[in-house]
Amino acid sequence: MGGPIVLAELYRAVIDRTKGMCACTGQCGQTHKTSGGACDRRGRYGHPLLVVPVDPATSPVEAAALGPEELVALCGGCAVRRASAQKKRREAELDEQAEAVAISLF
Ligand SMILES: [Zn+2]
Ligand SMILES: [Zn+2]
Repeated sequence: MGGPIVLAELYRAVIDRTKGMCACTGQCGQTHKTSGGACDRRGRYGHPLLVVPVDPATSPVEAAALGPEELVALCGGCAVRRASAQKKRREAELDEQAEAVAISLF
């Protein structure tokens, strides 16, 4: 058990692990074909990499308690695309659940 991790250190630990590169390998819905199947974007001034939970379904409250091994660095573009892909999946799931309820009612 270590002491509390300073947020900046946590950020750096995650970014260091991905060598300063976006760690997306298609989770955002793009194939990243031109860069060998993985996004090769680096953080740059004004557009730093974002540190986000590995599991896009993680709630912000849960995310605040995650360690560096449960976080991943993504570029802004991949983070936004991955979040909207997750939202679509979630909506599709809710639709399915609603249908299941409807079927069980009738
Ligand atoms: Zn990316
Ligand atoms: Zn991507």
